[in-house]
Amino acid sequence: MIKVQNITKDFGKLKVLRGLDLEVKQGEVVVIIGPSGSGKSTFLRCLNHLESINSGNIFFEDKPVGFKQTPDGKKIPIKGKELCQLRSQMGMVFQRFNLFPHMTALNNVMEGPLTVLGKTKPDARDLALELLGKVGLANKAENFPSQLSGGQQQRVAIARALAMQPKLMLFDEPTSALDPELVGEVLSVIKNLATEGMTMIIVTHEMAFAREVADRVIFMDEGKIVEMGNPEQIFSKPRHPRTREFLSSVL
Ligand code: ATP
Ligand code: MG
Repeated sequence: MIKVQNITKDFGKLKVLRGLDLEVKQGEVVVIIGPSGSGKSTFLRCLNHLESINSGNIFFEDKPVGFKQTPDGKKIPIKGKELCQLRSQMGMVFQRFNLFPHMTALNNVMEGPLTVLGKTKPDARDLALELLGKVGLANKAENFPSQLSGGQQQRVAIARALAMQPKLMLFDEPTSALDPELVGEVLSVIKNLATEGMTMIIVTHEMAFAREVADRVIFMDEGKIVEMGNPEQIFSKPRHPRTREFLSSVL
């Protein structure tokens, strides 16, 4: 589904991503762990072209992300509608919920299908109600974000991303801004998505969750993938000293 080949990303002199390779297949759940500043968020942002890479390639369903090839083989950047369309296929959920504060939960979820997918109002409404039900918030449809707990807001954010009917979901520390007692409800929504076969790339500090939900775990440090393997391998038999050091600091 997504293929990353030797990508790099610099911010001025700072080399944030230093040659990353990754391939994620349909239905796979990949969890990324690693210390603060190791480039995890930047990596996710490159995947859906919120940041553009300096070198390397990213293909989403065999199409280059952020670029299209002209018949004579030149790469030209895509923008506007095409970029929107690409992004709509990758749902992203951030640490902060960033819902539209002036819209109800229902309208937040309906907005994308109405404006980007061109759905009719009744269709968008049905879909939004279904998705709010799925994240356990059928009874909060008319609440505004300020009338919802952090965990509920994050679940609305997940429903909103799902409303675009994405093929891939990207999560960037979806629970790290939540009070501890609200973490579980959000993780359980994500676990359900995994069970349903959603393809996901998840950055998280929740190691127990990572172990449970991941098909593959990636340990990133200093802009590189240091180690990658199944959860058992990474958490019980980490090979690299840096992985061991990181895990002993967080577990
Ligand atoms: P955390 O676990 O704290 O979220 P992270 O692994 O997600 O960390 P990134 O946010 O990807 O790390 O940041 C990697 C490095 O890139 C950091 O040194 C950060 O300061 C730098 N960086 C990120 N975004 C920008 C930007 N827009 N401009 C300049 N530097 C940036
Ligand atoms: Mg981050």
